[in-house]
Amino acid sequence: MLEELRAALGPAGCLTGADIPEAARSDASRSGHALPLALLRPASVSEVSAALTICHRHGVPVVPQGGMTGLAGGANPDPASVALSLSRLSGVEEIDAEGMAMVVRAGTVLETAQGAAEEAGFLLPIDMGARGSCQIGGNIATNAGGLRVLRDGMTRDNLLGIEVVLADGTVLTRLTKEVKNNTGYDLRHLFAGSEGTLGVITRAVIRLRPLPTPRRTALAALPDFAAVLRLLHLARAQLPGLSAFEAMWDDYFAFSQYLLPYTLFTDPPPFAVILEAPDDPAFDTLLEQALEEGVILDALIAQSLNDARRFWTLREGEAIDAALPGLINLDISLATRRLDEFACRCRADLLARFHGAHVSFFGHIADSNLHVAVCLAGGGDAAEIHEVDAVVYGLVREFGGSISAEHGVGILKRDWLGHSRSAAELSAMQAIKATLDPKGILNPGKVFAASA
Ligand SMILES: Cc1cc2nc3c(=O)[nH]c(=O)nc-3n(C[C@H](O)[C@H](O)[C@H](O)COP(=O)(O)OP(=O)(O)OC[C@H]3O[C@@H](n4cnc5c(N)ncnc54)[C@H](O)[C@@H]3O)c2cc1C
Repeated sequence: MLEELRAALGPAGCLTGADIPEAARSDASRSGHALPLALLRPASVSEVSAALTICHRHGVPVVPQGGMTGLAGGANPDPASVALSLSRLSGVEEIDAEGMAMVVRAGTVLETAQGAAEEAGFLLPIDMGARGSCQIGGNIATNAGGLRVLRDGMTRDNLLGIEVVLADGTVLTRLTKEVKNNTGYDLRHLFAGSEGTLGVITRAVIRLRPLPTPRRTALAALPDFAAVLRLLHLARAQLPGLSAFEAMWDDYFAFSQYLLPYTLFTDPPPFAVILEAPDDPAFDTLLEQALEEGVILDALIAQSLNDARRFWTLREGEAIDAALPGLINLDISLATRRLDEFACRCRADLLARFHGAHVSFFGHIADSNLHVAVCLAGGGDAAEIHEVDAVVYGLVREFGGSISAEHGVGILKRDWLGHSRSAAELSAMQAIKATLDPKGILNPGKVFAASA
């Protein structure tokens, strides 16, 4: 099989043994350890198709790899699989100004695609902290969320067309730019969020939007969660173009601020919210009304990009990541109005089991998305980390929420999928998988157990 792959892809397209870089072992979750049989690096769609045809014939598993920034172990290979990197299949093919659409190859780094859109006078409406490494194909395969979902939606909401190579090498091309297209089943949405288990994404058409107008950013202190919900309601009603509403519980705010060389609120409030919206008098009016009503206790309005950066640095919490090696970041969603009830239960249950652990909460709460940050004394062993998952995901099930809001299922959340999906839903998903990939060669063991 390796001979055939080398002949089809050339020596630069099929690396084996010591030539395979260490980075091919694991995504950013650092949960993968094995090197694959080979690392395939096709440079064209026809090479992706040729590689899959060969692997399919030999029944050898293929693990698609993008920028390896995933947080669920979805791109980790095992020693009996080949990894297929999309990195050489990169570049923006077309920007259609009238159609406000970009045709882009799957291996294009998100930041490169964003830059090309901006140069042409548009916004590419997908953004996240990993922008310098993650790829458009990986963003689609994980249906990535990110920093501006409130305004721009998830990746699938910005996906107009897609090209995918199926397990047997068949190429499905639907690089359509039309927003309206009701011609049967919409296959795009099958592949968005499929985490490499249904096909290899090779190209896509992404919707572009006008460049945003200048923004105002504020950091507000709030007395309780009812006030957070009231502020969200007011902001949605009065600030068209609201692009961020990020809440931090006091445990997260206080610890992140403690680690930074500057102070934003001397007394950390019960809740802090970052608001971002177009620069318009309505922004200040809203804050004044919220102050008068007692919805907010205090607010800092950024006077410069640097001020806004300081708010976001506190929220992005890189200082916490650095201070607490082994930090577990769980990414869940549930009804927005119940997020604080969940956080209180979750904190109590985790601290009852793990005395002295760090537990804190923050989230894109307008998207019902909560992040739970947990660090166990001494980092915790595998069994203890499993127990943390059991506590948090058990509560997610009780609250009728989702065990993964943004990061996908991969391998790390696979065993908990039944907490968020019914048996009927799981068997429908497995039926789709069996139809598109009857030999089960595409990313086996991810999303579902391999034997499923
Ligand atoms: C600092 C940091 C910040 C992050 N912020 C966010 C955030 O705000 N929101 C968010 O949603 N995620 C976030 N992530 C997670 C990650 O960046 C996203 O999941 C991203 O979309 C993964 O893209 P990738 O190219 O790195 O994919 P990889 O990690 O390489 O792969 C992810 C999955 O997609 C599959 N895959 C990759 N490329 C293809 C392809 N072409 N065809 C088919 N399957 C493919 C892989 O098999 C795997 O299952 C963050 C990660 C980091 C490290």
